[in-house]
Amino acid sequence: MLLKDKVAVISGAAGLRGIGLATARRFAEQGAKVAILDLNLEAAQTAIASLPAGPHLALVCDVTDREQCQLSAKQIVEHYGRIDVLINNAGITQPVRTLEIDPESWDRILDVNLRGVLNLSQACLPTMRSQGSGSIACMSSVSAQRGGGIFGGPHYSAAKAGVLGLAKAMAREFGPDGIRVNCVTPGLIETDITGDKLTDAMRQDILKGIPLGRLGAAGDVANAYLFLASDLSAYITGAVIDVNGGMLIHG
Ligand code: NAD
Repeated sequence: MLLKDKVAVISGAAGLRGIGLATARRFAEQGAKVAILDLNLEAAQTAIASLPAGPHLALVCDVTDREQCQLSAKQIVEHYGRIDVLINNAGITQPVRTLEIDPESWDRILDVNLRGVLNLSQACLPTMRSQGSGSIACMSSVSAQRGGGIFGGPHYSAAKAGVLGLAKAMAREFGPDGIRVNCVTPGLIETDITGDKLTDAMRQDILKGIPLGRLGAAGDVANAYLFLASDLSAYITGAVIDVNGGMLIHG
């Protein structure tokens, strides 16, 4: 098993069709004890109950709230005694154009997608540092790389691009402490984040630009997170892993 007895913290993992819960499931199958952090306790508990093995933990944590992140990390350490893996997965999007972005929306999108990564990393890093080991994987997006995905506005692209810079800087800073920090950049993954906005016509249009000929599944991203969380990626830090079916192939 790739994560035997590892303690893994995953934010934004209560959505039944989401990438976070698919990741929690993959991690639990591989022997990890998982802490799910999300906005709604009942949803997080339902998610936890669907996982194999255990014991796992459901906590309410709004990643935009520094205090809640600190408290969650404290509770996890009290419960399990350590933190081996942090998956900064929580995120929200808003499909608007530049001229439609109001200040509140800018703050909201940046707060969850970017500040949340800092908050939760700051909460978990001291424990990882004292252990001399840890792996953090952060959720960015193809939207950061190509200047917009399909559902994210420019503020979402900016936030997810910010995640790449933040993660790379943390990788450089904490490498000497045995802590690795990497990112994933998914293309279009079929989850609830698209709401009901993905019409059949849009889907056909998008598929034309995907060499592998299908949209992504939550499990595709979970597998990349698993690789980054496990010792299979022991010599990889500051890296960005595309999970996009070839939607964007770099030169
Ligand atoms: P999702 O809506 O199922 O998952 C997002 C989760 O984050 C939800 O469970 C939600 O409750 C939680 N969340 C939202 N705000 C939060 C906050 N302030 N604190 C804690 N939790 C919060 O959608 P998903 O597609 O699984 O998204 C997961 C991540 O993947 C997001 O960061 C998203 O931006 C990113 N992403 C998704 C796609 C895609 O096509 N689905 C592509 C690239 C990146």
